[in-house]
Amino acid sequence: MKKQKALIIIKPDAVQRGLSGTITKRFEQVGLTIIGLKFQKADSKTVIAHYPSTDVWFEKVGKRTLNNCAAKGVDPKIVFKTDDAVAIGKQVKSWLITYFQESPVLIMAVEGYECIEIIRKISGNTIPVLAAPGTIRGDFSHDSIDLANEAMRPLRNTIHASDTIEDGEKEVALWFTPDELFSYVRADEKIMFP
Ligand code: ATP
Ligand code: MG
Repeated sequence: MKKQKALIIIKPDAVQRGLSGTITKRFEQVGLTIIGLKFQKADSKTVIAHYPSTDVWFEKVGKRTLNNCAAKGVDPKIVFKTDDAVAIGKQVKSWLITYFQESPVLIMAVEGYECIEIIRKISGNTIPVLAAPGTIRGDFSHDSIDLANEAMRPLRNTIHASDTIEDGEKEVALWFTPDELFSYVRADEKIMFP
C-alpha cells in the first residue's frame, strides 16, 4: 500500500489562541510523519489557489448557509442579497482570503497510510458545533454557521485538512517547494507495520 500526502494548516484563530503545538501533537501522536513544516503569513494569491473556484465547491459551501437559513426560518435574500448557493459560496471564499491573512499560519505537510481518512477523522466536522468531542474541531472550537454568517465571516474552525488524495498532492505542492519537504521513516513504523 502506498502512503498518501496531506496538507494541514493551523488557521489564524488557533495560532492566535496558542494552540499550534497542541494541534500539531495530535497529528504526530496518531502516527503520521511530518514531512514539511513552516510558519508564515499566507498571501492572497496562494489562498485563492488553495480553495477551489469551481461551482461544485461554491455550491457545497453555499448550501451550508442555505440549510442553516432554512432551519432558522431566515430569508437568505435579506442577509446575503441572494438565495443562490454558488453566489453565497463565492462570498465565503472572499471571507476566507481575509481570515487566512489575519495572523501567521502554521503550514504542515504530513504523510502516512490512509492519511486523508485519518486527518479528516481527527479534524472533525467542518461546523464546530457538530464536530464530535475528541476531534480537533470538537475539542478546540465552538463556532456555528449562525454566528459566522451573522458577522459575514467564515467559520473559525482551527484547521484546514486536505479532503481527497488528489487535493492532498496538489495542496502540498502549492504550499511547499520540493526542497522544503523531507523523506524519512518514523521509528514506530517498525512496531506498527511489521
Ligand atoms: P477546510 O477546507 O478548511 O479543511 P472543510 O474541508 O472541512 O474545511 P470546506 O467545505 O472546504 O470545509 O470549507 C472551507 C472552509 O470555509 C471551512 O473550513 C470554513 O472555515 C469555511 N466555510 C465553509 N462553508 C461555510 C459557510 N457556509 N459559512 C461560513 N464559513 C464556511
Ligand atoms: Mg475543504
